[in-house]
Amino acid sequence: MATNRTFTMVKPDAVAAGNAGAIIKQIQEAGFKVIAMKLTHLTPQKAGEFYAVHSERPFYGELVEFMSSGPIVAAILEKDNAIADFRTLIGATNPADAAPGTIRALYAKSIGENAVHGADSDENAAIEGNFHFASTEMVG
Ligand code: UDP
Ligand code: MG
Repeated sequence: MATNRTFTMVKPDAVAAGNAGAIIKQIQEAGFKVIAMKLTHLTPQKAGEFYAVHSERPFYGELVEFMSSGPIVAAILEKDNAIADFRTLIGATNPADAAPGTIRALYAKSIGENAVHGADSDENAAIEGNFHFASTEMVG
């Protein structure tokens, strides 16, 4: 299992607002190398599968609806200490609690529509990356 990779999505709110380019630039300037990237539009079924771990939570229906509401940018990123450093870069789930300068502080609208996803563990980064990308779509 790679310990230096994470998985991210620029969520539909940020893509629709035209912020994907600025967010990807901030990610690269923080030292993350893009290993795979695509613009895609999840069906409700695919969004539901991706977030299946949250299926018992009260916000699951809204989350699935939101994540399938428009295009996203999915990416696999590489950096030393990728998981923790990326969570620091994006900030807290609720933008009201996100540290100044973090991606969510800059671009998130609400706790639900919060601009970006970041994997929470090496194991989940690998599962989530493989959910979106074939190995032939990854470089390096
Ligand atoms: N979410 C929500 N309401 C909540 C908590 C989470 O709509 O009260 C959404 C939000 O888009 C969040 C996602 O569900 O990013 C996954 O939740 P998680 O707790 O894993 O937060 P994250 O890891 O994205 O910070
Ligand atoms: Mg999470």
